[in-house]
Amino acid sequence: MDRSERAGDAWQKGDVTHFIGGAWVEAESGRWYPNHSPWSGEVLGNVAAGDGEDTRRAIEAAHEAFPGWAAVVPAQRQRVFLHAAEVVERRRDEILLALALETGCGIHFGRVQVEFAAALLRQAAALAYQPSGELLPSDVPGTRAMAIRRPVGVVAAIAPWNSSLVLAGRAVIGPLALGNTVVLKPSEESPYTGGALWAEILQEAGLPDGAFNVVTHAPGEAGAIGDALLASRHVRRLNFTGSTPTGRRLAEKAGTHLKRTVLQLSGQNPLLVLADADVDYAVDAATYGAFVHQGQVCMCARRIYVERPLADRFAEAFAAKVAGLPTGDPRDPATVVGPVINEWALALLQRRVDEAVAMGARVLAGGTPAPPCYPATVLTDVPDDAEIALGETFGPVVLLEAVDSAEEAVTRANRTDLGLAASIITGDTYRGLSLATRLDAGIVHVNDQPVNDEPHMPFGGVKDSGWGRFGLGYAAEEFSDLQWVTARDQDRTFPF
Ligand code: ADP
Repeated sequence: MDRSERAGDAWQKGDVTHFIGGAWVEAESGRWYPNHSPWSGEVLGNVAAGDGEDTRRAIEAAHEAFPGWAAVVPAQRQRVFLHAAEVVERRRDEILLALALETGCGIHFGRVQVEFAAALLRQAAALAYQPSGELLPSDVPGTRAMAIRRPVGVVAAIAPWNSSLVLAGRAVIGPLALGNTVVLKPSEESPYTGGALWAEILQEAGLPDGAFNVVTHAPGEAGAIGDALLASRHVRRLNFTGSTPTGRRLAEKAGTHLKRTVLQLSGQNPLLVLADADVDYAVDAATYGAFVHQGQVCMCARRIYVERPLADRFAEAFAAKVAGLPTGDPRDPATVVGPVINEWALALLQRRVDEAVAMGARVLAGGTPAPPCYPATVLTDVPDDAEIALGETFGPVVLLEAVDSAEEAVTRANRTDLGLAASIITGDTYRGLSLATRLDAGIVHVNDQPVNDEPHMPFGGVKDSGWGRFGLGYAAEEFSDLQWVTARDQDRTFPF
């Protein structure tokens, strides 16, 4: 189907191809796979099943486009991003529908994604006029020394499905704004909203051909694309958002190729409720933080620690609120908990909850699957060695635990190998701030829940949650090289 026919709300019947060198192209192998809606199961379209060869074509296109895009003057670069923000806003309703159909994303979180995308593009436009270096004092008389930021070349981006528009967007817009060109590999679960849609937006906005490329692939075939991206000498950086096991594998390979990476990986995020907290506020915050987008956000609260004086009141009010959350069609504005992404994710949730219950956990709300949805679920008395207590389980399940003190809450919060986001709810903000510095997390919010993001914030984790920071203010550190340049206006005297 011609891309122009995809405009409007007919998009979901379209096929998704690669976008290489400004053209929509099929996989060289001629293979396709069906893109299923997690809510209805219907086939939304066929997707090009790409491989390493397609990836090499995309890298070549990005490499060829690099000198041209890097040389574009700031006013023109700024116009592209401002225009792209307008495209996102104009297509807002259609994008909300696409997010719901392709990824099961409800209206509320869809709006969050669209607003983030528009803000990201406007902030990227502002980057065009950021200073690109500094003058440095030198002890060598007659030498002028500079540190100059230069784009690196081709940046590879591997993005997940769970906040497809936002996570693909932040993976590519910062690198592009700095003058790099990009090859994006979206998830097999979101080839349109996390891939081709960005190509449509940036193409309409006037980004030069080849500056942005997308390669899609069939389920289970991401490895060949990742390997081709890492092996290419033209690809100078890889950014990855996804699970810790996949990130670890990519980091190992990146080490072999001496390729710098930004990794934003799994979270097992704690929310601490201290004894002086307002219980009603804590319940509202915890409900949002644990169940927004049916718990499929990397920052979602997975563990709630409540100081004992509040524990029973909190548990009762929280379980009652959670049990009443509307579940079902993501296109219904009243729905809070939509479908999980696929049958495999549903089965994993059920297996881990059942295992915890068999080990002695109690279910305070939810716990019985309603395919394709898993209801918002609260577990308590979960043993530390249950699978669900050990690592990230992506979905609407949260563990609740009473603790004797804020000290114990911090110790319990820090017990995992993951360290993405955390939050603390307390009547004493200063105490919250001081406890925040003791939490092993890249992101901590006091008197809020953990799911927050803004395009310019230093987003990222510590420990096994990854390294490097997304956030436009920090993108230069990750996606440009600092070059030391000197110039002399007089000859030097050499010793021999
Ligand atoms: P999730 O459980 O969120 O899907 P993954 O880490 O499996 O987390 O997926 C995140 C992204 O990583 C997706 O785009 C997926 O296709 C990609 N991916 C998965 N395995 C590999 C791999 N071996 N090499 C490169 N990318 C991969």
